[in-house]
Amino acid sequence: MTNASSDYAYLAANWASVRERVDDACRVAGRDPSEVSILPVSKTFGPEVVRAAMALGLTRFGENKVQEVRSKAEALADEGIAWVVIGHLQTNKAKDVARLASEVQSLDRIELAEALHKRLQIEGRAIDVLIEVKTSPEESKHGLPPAELPAFLDALRAYDTLRVRGLMTLAVQSDDAETVRACFRQLRQLRDAAEKQGHELPRLSMGMSGDFPLAIAEGATEVRVGTAIFGRRHVTQV
Ligand SMILES: *Cc1c(COP(=O)(O)O)cnc(C)c1O
Repeated sequence: MTNASSDYAYLAANWASVRERVDDACRVAGRDPSEVSILPVSKTFGPEVVRAAMALGLTRFGENKVQEVRSKAEALADEGIAWVVIGHLQTNKAKDVARLASEVQSLDRIELAEALHKRLQIEGRAIDVLIEVKTSPEESKHGLPPAELPAFLDALRAYDTLRVRGLMTLAVQSDDAETVRACFRQLRQLRDAAEKQGHELPRLSMGMSGDFPLAIAEGATEVRVGTAIFGRRHVTQV
């Protein structure tokens, strides 16, 4: 008979190690570790892995494909999981998102806000959203152009099903720490400027397995960590 919990012993070790590294990064930055949460990114890993992670007390999971949220939500119904959508979203996925997601961190255009709002009204739900801002020049990265943020925030006031809680970004892929850090700094500065205009944006979702200490140094309140918790992904995803 296999012992399911020992098969996943690496998860507990990885989780503890990531939490320790997050706490260390907070101390180096002179921040209180309680200010920074970790969103485990379970994309490409099956429901059995998510279930094992739940045994560690994790209840929120980041996914970047709606199709995957759908199949895992089905497999893990009634587990009380909060699914957080972090990947680029097509408007035709709004229906499933409105039904299944507790939060969307990749809101980057008004057509998507409109589509989500319509579907959320039908569902009678409201969800937290973060605005994904493009702080990197890479073509492959999505997100709102920084200059459009003020007008976008004003426009979002029309959608009462979308509770705007902050900003999200993916940094440029670079070996130069300062280049990466500049992306995170830009997101914080955009947030600070928006707050001066009266928008309340307490959350900054930035930093992944390879760069979260830099994001924490620049004010991240949440880091999205996949590989360092779950291991290498064997399916290629953006
Ligand atoms: C996959 C993904 C992550 C996590 O990446 P890792 O490098 O595996 O930690 C974070 N954010 C987004 C948007 C992702 O798609």
